[in-house]
Amino acid sequence: MYDVIIIGGGASGLFLADLLKTNYLLLEHNHQIGAKIKVSGGGKCNITNKILSFKNYRGDEKFVKEILKNFDNKAFLKWLKNNNLKVKELKKNQYFFDSSDELLNYFKKNVKNIQTDTEVLGIEKKECFIIKTNKGDIKAKKVVIASGGVSFKKLGASDIGYKIAEKFGHNIVTLKPALVGLTVQKQEEWFKKLSGISFMAEVRVNNKIFNQNILFSHRGITGPAILNASLWWDKGFIEISFLKNIKQYLKNPNRQISTQLPLPKRFIKEFLNVINLEDKKVKYLTKNDFDKLKLLENYRFAPAGTFGFERAEVTKGGVDVSEIGFDMQSKKVKGLYFIGEVLDVTGELGGYNFQWAFSSAFNLFLRL
Ligand SMILES: Cc1cc2nc3c(=O)[nH]c(=O)nc-3n(C[C@H](O)[C@H](O)[C@H](O)COP(=O)(O)OP(=O)(O)OC[C@H]3O[C@@H](n4cnc5c(N)ncnc54)[C@H](O)[C@@H]3O)c2cc1C
Repeated sequence: MYDVIIIGGGASGLFLADLLKTNYLLLEHNHQIGAKIKVSGGGKCNITNKILSFKNYRGDEKFVKEILKNFDNKAFLKWLKNNNLKVKELKKNQYFFDSSDELLNYFKKNVKNIQTDTEVLGIEKKECFIIKTNKGDIKAKKVVIASGGVSFKKLGASDIGYKIAEKFGHNIVTLKPALVGLTVQKQEEWFKKLSGISFMAEVRVNNKIFNQNILFSHRGITGPAILNASLWWDKGFIEISFLKNIKQYLKNPNRQISTQLPLPKRFIKEFLNVINLEDKKVKYLTKNDFDKLKLLENYRFAPAGTFGFERAEVTKGGVDVSEIGFDMQSKKVKGLYFIGEVLDVTGELGGYNFQWAFSSAFNLFLRL
């Protein structure tokens, strides 16, 4: 009989195991641990962010605040430093490793009790927990579900955490792909013709504003600003300012619109085509033409959907945190714990999801 069984050898499970040191067994169905860590941040793993607040998360405000309080970005950076894990601010406020292997190698060296190639199929509770696996039953006093979300199945993602939660009477907030590109309706088919074009824009959704790159794609639109918007978008409209204050650029009366606006030429040509406006000299622009061009400042569109779980960095929704204590323990079943992405807390782009995985694991460690 084990004291603690951890289900999932990803970010949250590995960190918890490292903190516990002994009296646990970590079960992972992949042949290797940390598949998402390996590919994350373009192989450099964007581990955390200089700016951290509950506002960077979609989830219960009080719960998120409490969990981050005990292990915030500063505590995380300190832990990394203490363990000789060097990170750099490669993008504004975002910390990365030179290679995600540095973190993986740390876990490979320090987390001893791992059983890979072991798929958890379900759990029963009698006097203790009985974990059903493809390698037989394992008994434990406590079980930690660290099995993550359902996005990127090819990396080992599964819905086992949600199934276990449901079996023990937990509510699951509807799962949806997040940090993912958006597909478009007929009116925005023109986005697809611009596949590969990327530039800075302001994207607004549900009172959230992202000033980052957008990227047109053969499926619709993506890029950091759109990935972030996808976290907060469920249905309805998204607004994009492709360019702000366009009048300031249209000053030379003898030059054409496309030579004045600081946007990729291919984009402007297509946009003018969509609003049915000739690429004329500024001096010939009528008030009505200006009004049409104003759409550049505030383009509203209703996405058709997303690129789906297979392209989503994370899964939003999950185990309802109103049924989980600050010790990460189920309020319904004593000895059953949930950490990481399986919970209904999802971070924006920028290292916030690893921060959540580590913060939630630390909270459990504190109170286990
Ligand atoms: C392509 C990509 C890039 C990303 N980049 C970043 C980034 O740069 N920064 C950031 O903050 N976040 C990033 N994320 C998100 C981040 O990886 C996750 O939010 C984080 O790994 C969640 O940690 P977790 O421990 O909850 O789950 P995971 O890390 O997903 O770990 C869950 C583990 O459980 C295992 N498992 C699942 N089912 C079973 C089962 N039945 N039996 C046994 N084991 C099972 C899985 O194989 C996996 O190893 C990225 C995600 C993707 C897909």
